[in-house]
Amino acid sequence: MDKARPMPVLFIGHGSPMNALPGNRFYESWQALGRMLPRPLAIVCISAHWETQGTWITSSPSPRPIHDFRGFPAALFAMRCPAPGDPLLAQSLVQRLQSARVRLDPQRGLDHGVWCVLGAMYPEADIPVLQLSLDQHLSGSEHYALAQNMLSMRNEGILVVSSGNIVHNFGRFHQVDDESPAWVSRFRDEVNRRISARDHAGLCDYQRLSPDAETAVPIPEHYPPLLYALALQRDKDPVRIFNDHLLSTLSMTSLVIGRLT
Ligand code: ZN
Repeated sequence: MDKARPMPVLFIGHGSPMNALPGNRFYESWQALGRMLPRPLAIVCISAHWETQGTWITSSPSPRPIHDFRGFPAALFAMRCPAPGDPLLAQSLVQRLQSARVRLDPQRGLDHGVWCVLGAMYPEADIPVLQLSLDQHLSGSEHYALAQNMLSMRNEGILVVSSGNIVHNFGRFHQVDDESPAWVSRFRDEVNRRISARDHAGLCDYQRLSPDAETAVPIPEHYPPLLYALALQRDKDPVRIFNDHLLSTLSMTSLVIGRLT
């Protein structure tokens, strides 16, 4: 890896666990991304699917995959993510985050928000992976401030991948047809506009982002991972938006922050 160039940062809209199976457009986009990125020394993931009291970091040397979903094909339950962990990096991340509410979890594995994406990006599973939980007690700006402590990791060959969905109203997912309601595109467009304008303060205050916020982000778990990626944006980093698709009441909008080459 070119040490003079910081690693990019990713926010991935992960959507359905089915996207972990080869042959769909999201899997293929993640696979292509893995081939374009400089090879990281380690990966730190933040996913919507690990909410906790305080912030926890996986510290197992071999974190198991967690199949935290029901009603999907057996092929998904058979999928494994044999990537190693990195207990030493986990310990150093505790120091780096500078919060008394950050601790190690040597038992926890990797949830599907992590392995669905990384399985496509790095099928060899030969890069150490850590996961950071989402502290349920943090506001948007507190998530952002915590994540800013990880900025220097970009110069150390560590890839930060946050995984969620900017619009995610699963309660209404089956109540509408494939066509998305207008509030989905309005909220997606407003967030995209603010990402392009680098309005991070507005994006942290997501409950007041627009009149659609309450419907687009009914529960604060799939949106906050976005803030971990934005917190690592440097002044001159370009932002590329991709997979900017709407699926019923989900948005798959994803970001590459920083240069790939
Ligand atoms: Zn999810």
